[in-house]
Amino acid sequence: MGRLVFGGSFNPVHIGHMRVAIEALHFLAGLADTLEFLPSAAPPHKPCVPMLPFALRIRLIEAAIRSCKGMLCDPVEGNRPGLSYTWDTLRLLGQRHGAANLYFLLGSQDFDLLPEWYRGMELAGLCNLVIVPRGDYAREDFLASCQNFWPGALEPDQKYECMDATVRVYKPRAGYKVYFLPVPFLEISATHIRKIWLCQGNLDYLVPAPALEILRRERDIVDACWREKKC
Ligand code: ATP
Repeated sequence: MGRLVFGGSFNPVHIGHMRVAIEALHFLAGLADTLEFLPSAAPPHKPCVPMLPFALRIRLIEAAIRSCKGMLCDPVEGNRPGLSYTWDTLRLLGQRHGAANLYFLLGSQDFDLLPEWYRGMELAGLCNLVIVPRGDYAREDFLASCQNFWPGALEPDQKYECMDATVRVYKPRAGYKVYFLPVPFLEISATHIRKIWLCQGNLDYLVPAPALEILRRERDIVDACWREKKC
C-alpha cells in the first residue's frame, strides 16, 4: 500500500493542514493508507519568514496527529545541511519505499509555483503528485497547469468517483500520475495564524488543541521567533 507525503513549513501546523491530510487519505483510500507530514527544515522559498525552530515545529505536528489514525511525522529533512529541497527528499523516499507507491501532497498555490522550485518539473518523475485546491481553484485551472507543465499527456483527463465527488487524474508522458482532489477549501494559512498570535488573538479551533497547548507553554520562544524581522 502507498504512502502520502505532506511537505511544508508547518509554521505552525493548523487545521487547514489537518483537514487536507484527513481528506487526502479518504480520497486515496485503496492507494495510500498512511500520511507522513514532512516538515521542511530550511524552506528554500521562505527566507524572509520568521520560522519556529525545526524541533518545535515537529513537536507541534506530533501533538496534532497523536489521535489521527495513519498519520506520522518524518523528520528526515532535519538530517541534511543547507536548504531542504523537495527533489532530494522525494528521490530518497522513492528509493526507500518505491516511487510508484509515493504520493506527494501539495496545495494548488504551491503546485502552480513548481517551475520555480529546484527541479520542480521533475518531481512528477520521482513520485505521484496530489493537488488540493486553495482559494477558488477549479478543475480547469488544474488541467491548464498540467498541460502547461507537461504537454502532450498520455491521459489528459482521467477521473474516478469517490463518495459523490470526482477525482481527476493527469498522466504526463514521462512520470507518474497527478491527482486533483475536490477537497473543500478552508481559508486558513500559517501566515494568518502568526498574525493573530502576534496581536494576542484567540487561536482556538484554528490550531489543533494539543499543538496550541505547546505554543502557549513555549510562549517566550514563539514570541521571539515570530517577532523577528528577517528581511
Ligand atoms: P504560510 O502562510 O506560512 O506560507 P501555509 O499555511 O501555506 O504557510 P505550509 O506549511 O506552507 O502552510 O503548507 C504546507 C502545504 O499545505 C502546502 O502545500 C500548502 O499549499 C498546503 N496548505 C496550507 N494551508 C492550506 C489550506 N488551508 N488549504 C489547502 N492547502 C493548504
